[in-house]
Amino acid sequence: NAKEQGVDIRRYVPLMQMKAAERLKMENDLRRALERDEFYLEYQPQVQLSTKELVGMEALLRWQHPKRGLVSPVEFIPVAEESGLIVPIGEWVLTTACRQNKEWQTAGYRPICVSVNLSMRQFLQPNLAGKIGEFLKRIGLDPCYVDLEITESMTLDKEKAFEQLKRLKELGVFISIDDFGTGYSSLHYLKNMPIDRLKIDRSFVSEVMEDSNNAAIVSTITSMAHHLKLKVTAEGVENEDQLQFLRQQRCHEAQGYFFSKPVRAQEFENIFLKSATF
Ligand code: C2E
Ligand code: CA
Ligand code: CA
Ligand code: CA
Repeated sequence: NAKEQGVDIRRYVPLMQMKAAERLKMENDLRRALERDEFYLEYQPQVQLSTKELVGMEALLRWQHPKRGLVSPVEFIPVAEESGLIVPIGEWVLTTACRQNKEWQTAGYRPICVSVNLSMRQFLQPNLAGKIGEFLKRIGLDPCYVDLEITESMTLDKEKAFEQLKRLKELGVFISIDDFGTGYSSLHYLKNMPIDRLKIDRSFVSEVMEDSNNAAIVSTITSMAHHLKLKVTAEGVENEDQLQFLRQQRCHEAQGYFFSKPVRAQEFENIFLKSATF
């Protein structure tokens, strides 16, 4: 059941629309994709609006299928979720992104934070914090340079989510609520959950100049974040006007095509790490 798995049914191609055979084929292909090295990551810069500095990057998973070519995560993540394959795949994403971040720090670049998307199944794994903690210690990356993005639906089971988040916070990683405003979280949850940041969903940001309701939503989320002492990041920023609006609202950070599309590690290093101001 898609809702239970935490699949964002508004964003994703519903599993129901995929033919059973097609789904099975994709699942089998996904099963082999890790061994066959078909995944890679792209990174998208996150920019601090007050200083125009690069402060973070979001790691986004890409699958180069041998026959189909590049498959969108919007298509394959739900299949990976449903089959449970998201657990090993997600682990690969987390370890690869963290190793990359450490490598860049070792090379002498100013440290930035890496954001990694967590799926519901990963989030609910027992001893997740312990495993992440051990891994970070082993590679020597300070947990303060790791941000885990979860969605509102993952906090529906309040007690479980609270326990899990508390352990992750104790470890010292950063916690963000992704696609904020599209889920079900009540203000009560928000007040009590140990989280650090809200990422305003792209759907509100993209039409913020055309739709006054969107402007009201963005402005309300931003001001609420300030009051709750949470960081706030806007996603999907595509033009100067949106950026201007976000600056006026004192939104802390932004991410989107206006700065850059997600790019491969080498390109990210060449373009963004070697000159870290936008
Ligand atoms: P998301 O976490 O909300 O990631 C942001 C998506 O918006 C990315 O799509 C990014 O390429 C796109 N985007 C960024 N800026 C702009 C913009 O200015 N305009 C527009 N139109 N789009 C923008 P992408 O890479 O296709 O990923 C789609 C979704 O797949 C992600 O949404 C996330 O939910 C999921 N996903 C990607 N990688 C992973 C992963 O490693 N693990 C898990 N569990 N999910 C992932
Ligand atoms: Ca995300
Ligand atoms: Ca998002
Ligand atoms: Ca999303």
